[in-house]
Amino acid sequence: MERARTEDLQARAQKVLPGGNTHVARAYSPAVYVTRAQGSRKWLVDGRELIDYTMGHGALLLGHAHPAIVQAVRDQVARGTHYGASHPLEIEWAELISGLVPSAEQVRFTQSGTEAAMLGLRVARAATGREVVVKLHEHFHGWSDTVSVDLDASGQPAASPGVPAAVAAVTRVVRPDVESIRAALAGRDVAAVILEPSGAHYGGIPLEDGLALAIRTACDETGTLLVFDEVVTGFRVAPGGMQATLRVRPDLTLFGKVMAGGLPGGAVGGRRDLMALLAGRIMHPGTFNANPLTASAGIATLRIVGDGAPQRAADGYARTLEAEWRAVLEAVGIPGRVWRLSSILHVQLDDAEQHGRLSNALRDQGVDLLRTSAFCSAVHSLRDLDETAEAFRRAAVSLLQPSGAV
Ligand code: PMP
Repeated sequence: MERARTEDLQARAQKVLPGGNTHVARAYSPAVYVTRAQGSRKWLVDGRELIDYTMGHGALLLGHAHPAIVQAVRDQVARGTHYGASHPLEIEWAELISGLVPSAEQVRFTQSGTEAAMLGLRVARAATGREVVVKLHEHFHGWSDTVSVDLDASGQPAASPGVPAAVAAVTRVVRPDVESIRAALAGRDVAAVILEPSGAHYGGIPLEDGLALAIRTACDETGTLLVFDEVVTGFRVAPGGMQATLRVRPDLTLFGKVMAGGLPGGAVGGRRDLMALLAGRIMHPGTFNANPLTASAGIATLRIVGDGAPQRAADGYARTLEAEWRAVLEAVGIPGRVWRLSSILHVQLDDAEQHGRLSNALRDQGVDLLRTSAFCSAVHSLRDLDETAEAFRRAAVSLLQPSGAV
């Protein structure tokens, strides 16, 4: 009966949503429909309960429906969601960001992380008078044209269908090593290097030690701006983000996710002289920029995460999970790797077929990952930890059975 509800929704979705979904990372098969979430858990239309490690694609460091955020949003929605005018919350929100991330001397709000990347690169191009952007292979910055280019299997740049060739031509995609980056900057025609300072996919492919600093130096030597995409890492890996951990100061930083408290939002922060261009001729309107509702959620979140305690709780939880998952793979005899950046855990099984089945196998046992990464929050509990360890063990055992076996 409840299973029928999921199937019915899936049939309706196939008719009105391309591919039956709204985001490639949510294209689960079999489909999953969630109706409610609280803390570390979410509940599906078929009545099942999942321990959630997708955590709003990394946005929910404080878990689902945190009481302080719910209260802030509830209060604000009743006071209006758009004033068509400036409001005090946008100032407080920017002050909190600047206070936690000193390189963000000024802040301009956007409506998503994608838009933050668009705006950051526009500012960099306007400031330098150069058009080329250097992007590191596999580093993700949302879906705008300039950053929807990577290297294909033969090492040639390949853009998403729909990206004009003329636009793709001004994105120089390089491998994340110092020689390639230096070579790409040598002609002094590059406006900015943009990268995930964690390495691609929030630490899924970590940067070599010292590379971020070497890129900073190469940028300084060639008049190139350095743009850190901290949409995922910002306020999560530390109150000051990955730049605080690495002690490398970018010229511009892109924010999203945690800073918007689980509502849609983003921002660019950076050097005052660069950000000042936004007070002049650079075009950047946007109906929902710094909208009061997102601002209320962002402020409530940043007030809580500013002291570092939630990050420490989430990191500690992830550390335990990392050790348990490694032990399970070892005990069950599945070759693979488990590694971690702060509160973000990554799993890679050596066998591609097993790896491909892992997230479905875990979901069958009541644990939901974002692909094969787990975002831990400050509200995951010891009970979650126990249940997750057992679920991981069962899932691993199930991977030893041939696929399709019951
Ligand atoms: N940058 C990074 C590093 C991201 O992971 C994402 C989204 N996952 C984005 C930018 C884009 O943000 P948004 O989805 O809010 O547009």
